[in-house]
Amino acid sequence: NAYVTLSAGAAIFEEGEPGAFAYLIVAGRAALFLRRDGVEVSVAERAAGEIVGEMALLDAGPRSASARAIEDCILVSVSEEQIRHRLHNADPILRLCFGVIMACCRDAVALPRPNGTVAPNGTVAPTRAAGAHFTPSLKADFEASIDAMMTERALRLALNRNEFELYLQPIVHLGTEALAGFEALIRWRHPEKGLVHPMAFIPVAEASELIVEITQWVVSEVGRIMPEIMRAALQNPAATDGPLFLSINVSGHDLARASFPEMVGEMLRSTGIAPSTLKLEITETTVMRDPVGATEALSQCREAGMGVAIDDFGTGYSSLSYLSKLPITTLKVDREFVRAMLTTPSNRKIIQTILRLADEIGIPVVAEGIEEPAEADALAEMGCAYGQGYRFGRPVPLAETLALTKA
Ligand code: C2E
Ligand code: CA
Ligand code: CA
Ligand code: CA
Repeated sequence: NAYVTLSAGAAIFEEGEPGAFAYLIVAGRAALFLRRDGVEVSVAERAAGEIVGEMALLDAGPRSASARAIEDCILVSVSEEQIRHRLHNADPILRLCFGVIMACCRDAVALPRPNGTVAPNGTVAPTRAAGAHFTPSLKADFEASIDAMMTERALRLALNRNEFELYLQPIVHLGTEALAGFEALIRWRHPEKGLVHPMAFIPVAEASELIVEITQWVVSEVGRIMPEIMRAALQNPAATDGPLFLSINVSGHDLARASFPEMVGEMLRSTGIAPSTLKLEITETTVMRDPVGATEALSQCREAGMGVAIDDFGTGYSSLSYLSKLPITTLKVDREFVRAMLTTPSNRKIIQTILRLADEIGIPVVAEGIEEPAEADALAEMGCAYGQGYRFGRPVPLAETLALTKA
């Protein structure tokens, strides 16, 4: 049982001990104090809704003060492992702030100060040299933070300087290989590095919420290019089969904004693009992070007529229960399963299962990453409606897309 009940006056822990637990105070009050020359120096009082003993757990140092219950207390213990796990999963910038603050806290309670720390002008020198808290694990965080900060700053500049481009990759009807639509895939035309692929910056953008502005850019760019693609398709009706669609990738942060459906809806209204031509691609992981918010935003988009595709299906922590709650119109089988389907029976089985599942819910499947004609044939035979992959075309800039569509 994690609950600890203490009577008023009982010791919780002693200064200098190694600390294996922190304690959430459910009820009562506790005092933190130091013993100096036989005198108790009070440091702080903590009450219900607060925590004691967190410091030793956070930096693995000895207890910096003693604690005792000053009223009858109910405490819940938090183990080192529980804290470490949470800290480990925190953003490196937060961990860095944290390490510096921890060092300050330790200094603040390290009373009395050793001789000689009070300068002649009366200022008190820190008891710890600058940089002394800089442990190897914080160094690693520090480097990760520098990378993320630099990329974030560069991304901010890239948005201002309009350095992003949308590449378009065709999606075809597997039966006829006629064009069905495109997926918009972002590229960063970096002034020095050249073309940067999304895996190098989308994760950073997602960690910083810059992704919201990037998605806004993608949406407005779709408003600009979609009419051009439609016009090009009109010149070559034999190459397409039914109205073309355009898929964009959307992140959890986008869906968390209540304004998202309206933002996209406004683009569609002002450009006159039919909502049914736009598909939002989301991943299982995106949805699982905030299922309620994501479902709400997606339902609004769906009601407005847009399509919703689950991307990379089969790679996330899928719970089939959310499939029935989300307004999904398409499943996209991840490239991972297609890649080795001809030689790996288990991959083929997974694809078969996804196709059967999609059939049950009555929605079509897009297979990603088709590179070989034999893969396309096998998927068509298995009843997969759509295909995407180098076999049918790589992602290319708009001009090339228009030329190919007209041809
Ligand atoms: P994704 O949504 O799964 O996109 C498919 C990725 O597979 C694309 O990589 C595409 O170029 C690649 N691909 C397509 N066919 C083949 C094939 O036959 N063989 C191989 N080896 N690869 C193929 P890309 O363009 O590098 O994009 C990577 C990921 O970045 C995307 O994965 C998507 O998650 C993300 N992303 C791209 N554009 C955006 C965007 O505008 N917004 C957001 N939030 N994410 C984006
Ligand atoms: Ca996608
Ligand atoms: Ca995908
Ligand atoms: Ca993928």
